[in-house]
Parts: sequence; structure tokens; C-alpha cells
Amino acid sequence: MVAQHVLEFPGGYTRTTGPVIGRFLSELRARRIVGVRTAEGRVLVPPLEYDPATGEPVTGEYVEVGPAGTITTWAWVDEPLDTHPLDRPFAWALIRLDGADSDLLHAVAAENPKALAAGARVWPVWRDRPTGHITDISHFAPEVTKIVSEVRAEYRLQAGGALRVFLEGVERGVFLGSRCEQCEKVYVPLRLACPECGNTLPETLELPDTGTITTFAINNLPDPRAPEVPFVSAYILLDGADIPMIALIGDVPAHEVRQGMRVKAVWVPESERTASMANIRWFAPTGEPDVELT
Ligand SMILES: [Zn+2]
Repeated sequence: MVAQHVLEFPGGYTRTTGPVIGRFLSELRARRIVGVRTAEGRVLVPPLEYDPATGEPVTGEYVEVGPAGTITTWAWVDEPLDTHPLDRPFAWALIRLDGADSDLLHAVAAENPKALAAGARVWPVWRDRPTGHITDISHFAPEVTKIVSEVRAEYRLQAGGALRVFLEGVERGVFLGSRCEQCEKVYVPLRLACPECGNTLPETLELPDTGTITTFAINNLPDPRAPEVPFVSAYILLDGADIPMIALIGDVPAHEVRQGMRVKAVWVPESERTASMANIRWFAPTGEPDVELT
């Protein structure tokens, strides 16, 4: 395996848990992976206090990366040791998370080494109970294309270009969608291909940040992204879109949330925005009359 400036794993981080690593670990508890920007503008993941290339202290700017990434190099482990993170054959891999300029060393689960390759896309598999430790990421797994029911499922379907463009829109405070000329449907987030007819979708449009709640769920378990417990997650049909997106609902008691309620995105201040969904705190009621859902 190539020697890199990675923190030792397993056995925990052996570097001092200074403010930089501390920030990285606390973000893990919220299931976010952050890097730190160097004075030269590179993004180090995991973050280090000093840029290994120049020895300069890093800036205080943290950048959310991934959560998916690409395998740079890997080594297959046929017989895991007790101290290894997985009890079945796996690979140690250097993973270049999307948006990062350095590699994270972590375990990748795969059926066999043939399932892996440099350039393969991988996604983190999180532990159920985060503790603010690198092992909050249990391991990485090769990209799957099936739908799983979680908030990020929608984005998982469209790794790479379309997601990046969409998130860059979110950084500017707009939701980008795609319109299929054949189906006459508008999809958000932006997609490269129509999920119904398979047409490529060259037409990108900006959608407003207002919409209507189509369905919702009241959640009684704490979530680091949620304003309080219980909190509401909902499908929101943005005005002009034909497919709803999932978001949190805030600024309203959970029991007052209803289908047809008009909502608008609450954005974090522009100075705090990154190319991530964290820019949207939640959607809050606009006070407009409810919409009749058809
Ligand atoms: Zn279509």
C-alpha cells in the first residue's frame, strides 16, 4: 500500500485530537465527512493541522466531502485479524472522496477482489450508533444502483456529474431540475437521464424554493440534522416539479404539519454555504392557503 498522510487505522487515531481532528470526528457523528482547506486551496481528508505538502497551517475552512468516493489503490485482505474492522475478507483502500484532494484510508467490503478496481465508486456504510470516531463509518461498499429508503437515496441514484451540478446549484441557493421533452416531466434533483423513458435530459431549469408537502412522517428519534424531537420529514413537490424531494420541516409544531401545506426552504446564511444539502436547514410553512392535492 502506498504511504500516505493518513491517520492510523484500526486502533483509533494516534495523532493528537486537536481542534481539526475534533471537528472531523464530531461531524462524523452527524454522518458528515468534512475536510479542511489548505492555504493553497486543497481539501485534506481526513483533515490535518498542517498541510503535509508545505508544512503550512491549514485554514479554518471545513468542506463537506463525499460521502461517495473513488478507490485510488487497494490491497485485499484474505484473512482478517481480530483488530480489523470486518470479520470477512475485505480490502484496505485509499479512497478519494468526492471534493477531496487527498485520500482516506478505510476498509471496503466486497464479495471478492474481482469486484474492486482503481476508479471503482464506493459509498460509506454508517454504524447505527455514532460515537464520534472514525469507526462511525463501518466500512465502504461498492456503489449500488438500487433504491434504498433513506434521505440520500435520491442522490445515490445519480452519482457524479448530475449530483455535483445540482449541489453547486444548492450552493447558489437554487434547485436545479431537468425536464424530459418526451414525458413532459420535471425532475428534481437534476438528472442526466429520464427515469421513465431513458431520454437524456439536456434541459436544466432552476426551480423555486417553494413547494407543497405531499406526504410526511413524524419522527421520534433524534437526528442531528433535525431542529428538535419529534421532527417531521416530508416529500415536498417544488413548484414546477413533477417528482417530490425529501426534506425536513421546521418552524412549525410537528402536529400542525399537513398534506397540502405550502412551504419554503430556509437556507443557511450565504457565507456558510457549501455544495451540500446542509445549506437547507429545512422547509418552513409560508402561511399561504393549503393546496388541494390531486
Ligand atoms: Zn422521459
